[in-house]
Amino acid sequence: MRSFCFSIDAERDYRTDGQLTVRGLAEGLPMFTDLLTSHDIPFDIMGSGEIVEHLPRDLLQKRQDLVALGCHAYSHSPGYLSRMPRRRKEAEIQRATALLRERFGRPPMQFRAPNFSIDGETLEFLGGLGYRIDSSVLPGRYVRRWRLIPLVDHRGAPFNPYRPSSVNFLHPGETPVLEVPVTPNPLASGAPLGLGFLHSEGARVCRTALEKAAGRYVVFLAHSWEMVRWTSADSVRPWVRDASRGKTDLLEELLALLDGWEFLNLDRVGAREGRGGGG
Ligand SMILES: [Zn+2]
Repeated sequence: MRSFCFSIDAERDYRTDGQLTVRGLAEGLPMFTDLLTSHDIPFDIMGSGEIVEHLPRDLLQKRQDLVALGCHAYSHSPGYLSRMPRRRKEAEIQRATALLRERFGRPPMQFRAPNFSIDGETLEFLGGLGYRIDSSVLPGRYVRRWRLIPLVDHRGAPFNPYRPSSVNFLHPGETPVLEVPVTPNPLASGAPLGLGFLHSEGARVCRTALEKAAGRYVVFLAHSWEMVRWTSADSVRPWVRDASRGKTDLLEELLALLDGWEFLNLDRVGAREGRGGGG
C-alpha cells in the first residue's frame, strides 16, 4: 500500500509586486481543508510566522485529530535560511514558533524551510526548540544563484525518512529531528510533486506521477496561493496562474483515483517511523 501525505505551506500569496496579500488563506485554504476533513483525510498546516493572524483559528479546533501543525519559518525574505546569519535565522524561527503556539494553543512540531533551504545548523536548532520532524529536503533539488553560488543542493538525498547527520544533513546520522523528505516529481526533475502539478496537468497525469514516485511516503506539497484563481490582471507569474485553481474539483478527482492508498499527515509518519528514537 502507498501512503499519501497532503502537506500545506500556509503563507502569503506568491506575487511579483511584493504586496502582502492572503487571498490563498482567506478564500482558498478553508475550501480545500473542508474537502479533506469531509473525507477524513489528515493533512499538515505549515504556517508562516508573518501571516499567523490570518490562519483560520477553527482549523485545528474542528478536527484536531486530522491536522499536524507545523511552522514554515517567519517569512520568505530574503528567501534562504541556509544563507541567513545564524542569530537572525534563529530569532525568526523562534518568533514564528511562538506566534503559532499562541494562535493555536499548541506548539508546532513540524518544520519546513522556505524554498527547501534547510541545513545542519538549523536542524540542530529545531531539535532544541522541541521540533520532532523536518520536511524540507527535496531530493534532486539543485538551485544556484547567478549559475554559481549553490542555494539548495539536495542531489543524492534519501527519499525515505531518516535522522540526518550533524556533519552532512543529506546523510543519515544521529540528530534527533526526523527528516521526512518532500516527494520529488518523477515527471519534472527538481520540482516537488504537489497541488500545482495537479492543477496544471490534471488528475490522471498526477496519479501516474504518484505511482512512479520513489519512497515509502508521498509528501504532496501544496501552497495556500495555489487554492485560488489568479487572472492576467493579478501580479503573479504565468506559472502561478497555471498552478492555481479556485475550486477543489481536480483534487476530488485525484482522491477518487487513489483507491487503495492510505492517507496520513507528518505527525503520523513520525509516529510510525519512531521519531527521535531508533529511526
Ligand atoms: Zn513557502
